[in-house]
Amino acid sequence: MTIETVFLQLTAKALLSILRRIASPLEHVRARHLGHFRSAALADFGHYWVHRLLHTRYLWRTHKWHHSPTYMYWLAGVRGSVIQQTLVNMPYIGAAVFLDIAPWWMFWAILLKNVAQNDFMHLNRWWGNRWLEWIIVTPRYHHIHHSDDPAHYRGNLAALFSIWDHLFGTYVDPEKVGRNLTFGIGETVSPVRLVIGL
Ligand SMILES: [Zn+2]
Ligand SMILES: [Zn+2]
Repeated sequence: MTIETVFLQLTAKALLSILRRIASPLEHVRARHLGHFRSAALADFGHYWVHRLLHTRYLWRTHKWHHSPTYMYWLAGVRGSVIQQTLVNMPYIGAAVFLDIAPWWMFWAILLKNVAQNDFMHLNRWWGNRWLEWIIVTPRYHHIHHSDDPAHYRGNLAALFSIWDHLFGTYVDPEKVGRNLTFGIGETVSPVRLVIGL
């Protein structure tokens, strides 16, 4: 082995070690963000299926309050019976295992994201775009879910990522439906029963 080869090998080793030092924190950050995304996607997937269950005859009464408003407005989404809220939050709690040891602000970040998402999808605006709706739920996309037309009863169930509707056959194209929708559950139920969900 010549002195040049030894020198080259040592130089390559030193360079590799420097590169590893630079890359490892980046990898750590990337892995953490991947974990956050995986957790959000898993929770959203669970939310979709819980929502789908809420629309079965066994659990519909627990979800009626959410569908009772006859007009859309940003706070309409906060209506949720105790049973509904308990069921809907379960996937978020379950998905938290993917967060590993999360920083203190993660709980508040998830809460803020869920509130913003809920307010956004219930906005009183027929707003959306088909391209965007391939990724996320927009106000007009969710309006269809609140429509009192029986054809839309189990349509557009997704909460954040619209992919679940596309994958599991519950997608209703807002461009084909149009904005002249009416909302509500089409029956009168006592407010106490709506809130309790029984
Ligand atoms: Zn619903
Ligand atoms: Zn809603």
